[in-house]
Amino acid sequence: MLLVSAMLFIGCATPRAPQCACHMGSKADPPMNLIQAAADLANGKATRLPPDYIWAALKDREQDAEVSAAFERALAEGTHESRLALIRALELKFVHDPKTSGLDILGSELRGHFRNFNWQTDDFPGGREGPNEQFADVMVDALDLVRPERRANSTREAVVLRQEATEAVWEYMTRQWVPVPGQERYMLNRHARDPFIRMREQAKAEGVDLEILSAHRRRQTAEANAARAGNPNAVASFSSHSLGLAIDFNMNHREDITFKGLSTTPMSELVRMRESPVHKWLLLRGEEFGWYPYQNEPWHWEYNPPGFRDIFWADFPGGAPVRGIILEEP
Ligand SMILES: [Zn+2]
Repeated sequence: MLLVSAMLFIGCATPRAPQCACHMGSKADPPMNLIQAAADLANGKATRLPPDYIWAALKDREQDAEVSAAFERALAEGTHESRLALIRALELKFVHDPKTSGLDILGSELRGHFRNFNWQTDDFPGGREGPNEQFADVMVDALDLVRPERRANSTREAVVLRQEATEAVWEYMTRQWVPVPGQERYMLNRHARDPFIRMREQAKAEGVDLEILSAHRRRQTAEANAARAGNPNAVASFSSHSLGLAIDFNMNHREDITFKGLSTTPMSELVRMRESPVHKWLLLRGEEFGWYPYQNEPWHWEYNPPGFRDIFWADFPGGAPVRGIILEEP
């Protein structure tokens, strides 16, 4: 039901080029044609930037030297590559723009609903009950339609399901952990480490620091945490952190934006975290490196590119377990 509501929302909010675009774009107006072409690239999935953002940023391009230069190059060269370079420049503008939020990828209407909503402290689904938890669920469903999750520990794309985690599997998962260079106290699955390092370098080159606050999680720690939370069977006791395939990132970024910590309360802070350059960069660029969101928690990202399951299980006797019907984790 919530998913349907979200889809209806998305349907209503499908970004459209401003009305004026049609008569202004003509063969005699190369700059306007280029703006239209760039917005079309967003509709064609070359970027998750909303087309209305592309329109506004390109019409106002004199405000940004990088965007302006990329625009002139694309105008002069007229190639697909030069247009993609323009899209990259726009993405970086978006990432570093203090006025944007990851919620903007939902388009102008939904963005307005969720960013301006009067969130109450406990509106994060689960834990103490807040009055707007269903609305929070709709927000997550809507985000998932635009930037889908690929959970490593649940649903159809899972690398390992809880019911597959025998003693031998726990042993196998743990043996594959390797320290992350530069932040050696944190470990990742050996196949996830290099993609993370490449991603960190790319982000750094684009002015974004990807700092780990949590990665691997030992079974005993996870179970103790779940027990302390009064829920020993909670998903927390078998998380993608146990697989070495999850990272919790620091959402604080330089002087740009700060938070008290990684907490699901108050909900308004959780929503504000989507304004962090770290979150926005990962949202737009992470998939290129195999990293996917967990929409409930803006700081939690998982490595699980298509085809990864077989790579993960390659050295386990017998390989990946055969699966029947996948029951979804709650
Ligand atoms: Zn996490």
